[in-house]
Amino acid sequence: MRIAVLSAEAVPYSKTGGLGDVAGALPKALKRIGEDSVLITPLYRQTKPEYLSHLAIDDLWVNWRGTSYRARVFYSEANGSPTFLIDAPEYFHRDSLYGYAEDYERFAFFNHAALVLIERIGAPPDIIHLNDWHCGFAAVEIASKRLWDDYWRNSRTVFSIHNLAYQGAFSAEELWKFGFSSEFARNAFLLNGHASAMKAGLAVSDILSTVSPRYSYEIQTPEEGYGLDGLLRQRSNRLIGITNGVDYDVWNPAADPVLPAQYNAQDLSGKLDCKKALLEQFSLPVDLEKPVFASITRLTSQKGIDLMMQTAGEILATGAYIVSLGSGAKEYEDFWQNLRDYAPRQVGVYRGYNEDLAHLIEAGADMFMMPSRFEPCGLNQMYSLRYGTIPIVRAVGGLDDTVENFDRVRNTGNGFKFSEYEADKFLEKIYEALFAYHESDAWRRLQRNGMTIDNSWENAARKYVKLYEMAKK
Ligand code: ADP
Repeated sequence: MRIAVLSAEAVPYSKTGGLGDVAGALPKALKRIGEDSVLITPLYRQTKPEYLSHLAIDDLWVNWRGTSYRARVFYSEANGSPTFLIDAPEYFHRDSLYGYAEDYERFAFFNHAALVLIERIGAPPDIIHLNDWHCGFAAVEIASKRLWDDYWRNSRTVFSIHNLAYQGAFSAEELWKFGFSSEFARNAFLLNGHASAMKAGLAVSDILSTVSPRYSYEIQTPEEGYGLDGLLRQRSNRLIGITNGVDYDVWNPAADPVLPAQYNAQDLSGKLDCKKALLEQFSLPVDLEKPVFASITRLTSQKGIDLMMQTAGEILATGAYIVSLGSGAKEYEDFWQNLRDYAPRQVGVYRGYNEDLAHLIEAGADMFMMPSRFEPCGLNQMYSLRYGTIPIVRAVGGLDDTVENFDRVRNTGNGFKFSEYEADKFLEKIYEALFAYHESDAWRRLQRNGMTIDNSWENAARKYVKLYEMAKK
């Protein structure tokens, strides 16, 4: 099958969160299992030039808002699959990937340019795999073109929801500027008087998917549906959840070049060296007996930071360390900073984004906290499992699908899981985890249970191929 994957971000070219990890890894995994896949993504100022192999197209003429825009296209295989990066400086050479008032226009352009590029590079793809609201525009363009343009007649679209909370809403008055003036297109975009790129993708794509099975059910409820639950219920026979994989080329403690010592499920001794390095990195006193609780996340309310705020005092009272890596909302950044000032010998805080530190934390920590309000899939809990760091999570979305609560009688499970969004419930699991931590047999069992799970992308990619086959029917 010929598959084109479109994404607003993809590792290693760009990343702000899980979408980047997925979009980088899936095309590589598809290629490994024998599919013909290409990735198309914007070229940002943040994309490191050393990842670009060569200029593939110097003059990609894109009809855009009444003029002809000349974009360039670079080629790379830095993520392990053929990748085309669309270079339109006006739209993508900025201080950050997202967060601009005209983001909808930037990605509408990206989508249209990507389809122009696809037509230019060869035969039509069987599947165009679109990701999140940034790609809703292409879903509508393809669905419209299929009616009159032979090139697109047999192409089918798969639209993956990585996070329904971000919808790409904008004024419906703008639609015509991007060529979406037909009744079909307007109906696809319209949601409560606005245009929503997410809604458009969900309304017209041939198959819909979410990044975990549980999330596919959660978003069909009014509580988690962001006004789209009705549409999702209507299309539920076309909606399937596939849990993200882990790129073990990147996240593997047995071969991670960032770590001071490598380790595996049979021999975990290197993990202690990582813990020492982690404490040193944060200028904390090195007491290897004391557990390290960790958090790596975008600091948004989605991630349950307020539960961490309500329990941090109790955790510190047990003598444990807490380390946090992340940036985002000011109130949460201030919380971490204040916590560090309050207990500078127990708390390490890094405000910002740092890949290498994320690896060292996964390796050096003992427990990983993810008490999310909602979590479409979540990757850090899966990285934690592979690194022998025990996840303490709330039973929502992909967290519920990937973490099994520890059962000390049967010796099953790989982490700790609670349900209600309440600090007391989270704290109960923290104490349970601490209890297990001090029983080395139980702890080793927990670590091994997690480290030996196979969450590889190859498994997930095979499920996507089945989905693509469904879309072709
Ligand atoms: P989301 O996509 O909602 O942010 P995920 O758990 O799916 O959450 O993916 C988050 C990804 O971003 C993980 O790979 C995580 O390691 C990474 N990440 C988040 N914040 C940071 C940070 N401050 N520094 C480095 N990596 C980060």
